[in-house]
Amino acid sequence: MIIVPEAAIGDLITPAQAFDAVEKVFASMSRRSAYNFPVIREAIGHADALYGFKSGFDRDSLALGLKSGGYWPGNADKGLTNHQSTVFLFDADTGKCRAIVGGNLLTALRTAAASAVSIKHLAPKGAKVLGMIGAGHQSAFQMRAAVDQRDFDRVIGWNYHPEMLSRLADTAAELGLPFEQASLEQIGAEADVIISITSSTAPILMDAHVKGGTHIACMGTDTKGKQEVDAALVARAMRFTDEIAQSISIGECQHAISAGLITEADIGELGNVINGDDPGRQTDDEVTLFDGTGVGLQDLAVAASVVEFAMENGVALDVDF
Ligand code: NAD
Repeated sequence: MIIVPEAAIGDLITPAQAFDAVEKVFASMSRRSAYNFPVIREAIGHADALYGFKSGFDRDSLALGLKSGGYWPGNADKGLTNHQSTVFLFDADTGKCRAIVGGNLLTALRTAAASAVSIKHLAPKGAKVLGMIGAGHQSAFQMRAAVDQRDFDRVIGWNYHPEMLSRLADTAAELGLPFEQASLEQIGAEADVIISITSSTAPILMDAHVKGGTHIACMGTDTKGKQEVDAALVARAMRFTDEIAQSISIGECQHAISAGLITEADIGELGNVINGDDPGRQTDDEVTLFDGTGVGLQDLAVAASVVEFAMENGVALDVDF
């Protein structure tokens, strides 16, 4: 069995490789070659923790396994990341455990890759202004992955906690792009691509804010009760998601569904756009929205790539199990 510790991951997979793995698995999901199993997420009644697992199987790549972990709010005081996860891969032919892979950095890379895949396939071709809503841990990964997809010439950003905006400014500077703090009205009017990545439980970006053709990647809402975008904006946009079952239950679309503004049939799969079975955006004037809920197959795809690279580079720890 191969072990790839968390500390080794950064040297083993690039954002571009994570992008390829995620784009392929979204395509497999829409061909029905890959499927996710129902998600478990529970408050365990200890340390205020939320614990769960996401699992699935990709018949194309034979990636089988699960990501297990969750959110421990007290970890920061212990010098640890609040989000903790580990990926377990199994041999699809025998069921033997094939690998254990640190899942923290992989989660950020696969989540950023998902919104980048949506930008590649859905954003206006001539997009120049990237709007960021959210300045937490994930936001830097999101920005780095997004800028590879269009020729952005500036980044504008808003955050509920303005003191955190320095993360966006620093990341934009690292990427050689000017950054400006902006109001939500300004983001809605000027940004060609908007990424929302917050833990908000009430809408931030309102329908009235968004003018003209825009692609919105909603990446923060991954749990029942979270919300970043006005349900009326979700209803106005052309909607796509990684997985419809999650979109309507734990994703951004949950609110437009419960308000009766859209039905399940009104949500498309990004994988169908990747496969050429859904035309996606037709003109640069439309508003497209990607509801990125985060599926277990994304984790398995990047973890399988990491195991492959670790073995190629001779850094995999191989133990009898
Ligand atoms: P973080 O704790 O580092 O940052 C939280 C962000 O949310 C900050 O920008 C903060 O200012 C903002 N925020 C906090 N409370 C808010 C409120 N009441 N209203 C508006 N904004 C608020 O978290 P992170 O690691 O950057 O993750 C951000 C979100 O992304 C979380 O909700 C997390 O669960 C989600 N996430 C989703 C996926 C996915 O696959 N879709 C993957 C990883 C993380």
